[in-house]
Amino acid sequence: EPQISSSMIQNTIDQAYIKFKSMEDGENASYIPYLSKADSKLYGIAIVTVDGKIFKKGNVEYKFPVESVAKIFTLASVIQKKGTDTVLRKIGVNATGLPFNSVLSIELNNDKLGGGPPTGNPLVNAGAIATASLVEGQTLEKKWKSVLDTASAFAGHPLHLNEDVYQSEMANNQHNQAIAVLLKSYNALYADPSETVDLYTRECSYEVNALDLAIMGATLANGGTNPLSHVPVVNAATSAHVLAVMATAGLYNTSGEWLFKVGLPGKSGVGGGIVAVVPGKMAIGVYSSHLDAAGNSVRGQLALQFISEALGINIFSAK
Ligand code: GLN
Repeated sequence: EPQISSSMIQNTIDQAYIKFKSMEDGENASYIPYLSKADSKLYGIAIVTVDGKIFKKGNVEYKFPVESVAKIFTLASVIQKKGTDTVLRKIGVNATGLPFNSVLSIELNNDKLGGGPPTGNPLVNAGAIATASLVEGQTLEKKWKSVLDTASAFAGHPLHLNEDVYQSEMANNQHNQAIAVLLKSYNALYADPSETVDLYTRECSYEVNALDLAIMGATLANGGTNPLSHVPVVNAATSAHVLAVMATAGLYNTSGEWLFKVGLPGKSGVGGGIVAVVPGKMAIGVYSSHLDAAGNSVRGQLALQFISEALGINIFSAK
C-alpha cells in the first residue's frame, strides 16, 4: 500500500482550506445562546498521524465548545471500565435515524419494537446522557473529573470547562432534562437525572481546538494510545468499538450520507467541530461554526469529503 507523503497531506489540507474558505452556507447553532454568536469566518483543519506528525491550516488554535464530539471520549471510558456488554445492553449501538435530541427515538427504539434499548446509541443525546449516568464516582465533582481527565488524556494536555458555555447551556437545557427523566421512567438512566444532565452539560462545555480534535482522533486511530504523549488512554478493542459507533451514528440522522461520501468514522458537535478517523493511519479535525439542518458543520463536511477523496483514505475503497 503506498505511503501518503507529508507534502501530499499538507497540500491537500491547504487546498481544502482554500476551496471552501468563502463558502458561507449553513447557520450557527441557535438554541444555545453562546454558540449563536460564534464567528463563522473562523476555519481550521488539522491532521495528526499515528506516527506523531502534525499538519495544520487556518485557525487550528481557536478554541470552541466540544459539544457532541465529547460523547465519543466518555463512551470510550465507559466501554473500558464497564465492558461492551453493558454498553450493548444498557445503551445500544443501533442508529436511531432521528435528530440527535429526539424524544421520539426513546419511544421507538425500545425492546418491544426490537430496536434495542430506549437510549438508541451513545452518540445521540439520550444515549450520551445514559452513558454519562454510567460514569463512576462518589460525587458529581468526581465523575466530572473522571470525564475531563479522560478527554485530557486523549488530547495529551489538560482541557478546561468554558464557564460561559456551561452556564448558557444549563439555563437552556430543559429538553435534555426531559430526555433524562423520560429515560428514568424506562429504567434506562443509571443515576440521578438532574445530576446526570449537569455532568452531560459540563461534558459538552469543555473547549478544544481543531488540533486537539485531530490528536484525540489520532489516539483512537492508534488503538487508544496518544501518538504524541505515548500515554495509553484506552485499549485497542475499546477504540475499535468507539469507531464502529461513530461510523453508525457519528453524524446523527445523516450518518449514512456522511459514510457514503467520506467513508470514515466521524463525530460532529454543534460547536462546529468534526473529527474523522482513519484507523491505523491518522485523524483529521476541522472547525467551522455554520451547521446544516442535522447540526453538522457544513464546511467541515465538505473539507473532509475533499480530503478523504484526495488522500484516498476511504476505508471502503480497495487499494
Ligand atoms: N450540548 C448540546 C446538546 O445537548 C450538544 C448537542 C450536539 O453537539 N449535537 O444539545
